Amino acid sequence: MTQKIKPRHPEKIKNPINPIKKKPNWIRSKLINSREFFVTKTVVNKSNLVTVCQEANCPNITECWSKRHATFMIMGDTCTRACAFCDVKTGKPEKLDPFEDIKIANAVKKT
Ligand code: SF4
Repeated sequence: MTQKIKPRHPEKIKNPINPIKKKPNWIRSKLINSREFFVTKTVVNKSNLVTVCQEANCPNITECWSKRHATFMIMGDTCTRACAFCDVKTGKPEKLDPFEDIKIANAVKKT
């Protein structure tokens, strides 16, 4: 099977093609499989709380949660913005949970 080469945009034809350079090793986050990570995960999930860490698929989650750090998202899991770089769900927010602040306070006490 032959691969079709996409023609360059006429404005770019005279410019050299810049190949994507290899990223430095430090830019990749390391997976940390620690007990503290799972403690944080259990507390967050059992309390039925929403975190930016999970909703945004943050690459630092194993590092932060291993230190028992998490960023809670208040007023639901939906954001009214639609920033291109962010993975949080966009839309009209659901009804507010009147006990959310108490749930967060209790979760913080457990960690
Ligand atoms: S606390 Fe850590 S994992 Fe959570 S959003 Fe911030 S950087 Fe990401």
